[in-house]
Amino acid sequence: MDYQSIIDEISNEITPLFGTGKVANYIPALAGVNPKQFAMTLTLFDGTQYSVGQADTLFSVQSISKVFTFTLALKFYSKDLYSRIGHEPSGNPFNSLVQLEYENGKPRNPFINAGAINITDALMNHYGSCEAAYNEVLEFIKSISDDYSIDSNDVVAASEMQYGHRNLALANLMKSFNNLDNEVEDVVGIYFKHCALEMNTKMLSRAMLYLANHGVDPITDKCYITPSQAKRINAVMLTCGHYDASGDFAFHVGLPGKSGVGGGIVAVVPKTMGICVWSPELNAQGNSLIGTKALELFTDKTGLSIF
Ligand code: GLN
Repeated sequence: MDYQSIIDEISNEITPLFGTGKVANYIPALAGVNPKQFAMTLTLFDGTQYSVGQADTLFSVQSISKVFTFTLALKFYSKDLYSRIGHEPSGNPFNSLVQLEYENGKPRNPFINAGAINITDALMNHYGSCEAAYNEVLEFIKSISDDYSIDSNDVVAASEMQYGHRNLALANLMKSFNNLDNEVEDVVGIYFKHCALEMNTKMLSRAMLYLANHGVDPITDKCYITPSQAKRINAVMLTCGHYDASGDFAFHVGLPGKSGVGGGIVAVVPKTMGICVWSPELNAQGNSLIGTKALELFTDKTGLSIF
């Protein structure tokens, strides 16, 4: 298949959509990003990459980091993880408090904010400190991306903390139900640092390969997780990766995927490739509007959906 022509075509077809979404502005440090940007990278199992647009430009990964923290928590806690967190779609916005109250402080899944904050808490228990939990997640991301330059943007993390009232409320609510072990500010602080990591579409599509290949990096042969754990992460990406638009994403794109409010979306074509698209304007559910459309066009043109 001529992947380069296909993504070049997609890049032309999405142009009329610029201006139809909104850049995330509830994190002031992200509000100033130029909305008229688009990038898409495909990474195959032999490392070949096809890119279009600003594929070298770093952006804030935000909730895409939830895939990586979930991976590490599942690796270390296995099924015990599900005593503190579920694996059902929430059908609610990513930062909703309502369901968490009804469900006694147990987040529906690892990809809504409450879930990822809870996972951060579990990783802090496992690694023994805030610093270790942050560093080990970063090391893991560097390893799966095969890029050791990746870092967090402290200005973005601080901006999130300054306006982080909802996330702090989610953490406090979990704490009140005895479903958070560490101090609220510490857990949320590390969660924000992971969200503020900066990567580009080349790095992120490369980072998805272990999930496309049953937990093993097809380039380095490093085994990160078991095939059964990889299956479950892909399943949760498919059913929960886009919050209350997860059904819509499965309907239009048909791939396991995870979005972030920085405008990035990662997706997995099982046994074939990792994909990342980026465009900062978001739809009403906080997912990249143009990124979602680009992925829909991709699976339509290539037939590479899981359905
Ligand atoms: N850091 C963001 C937040 O907590 C992540 C949300 C997202 O990317 N959907 O609000």
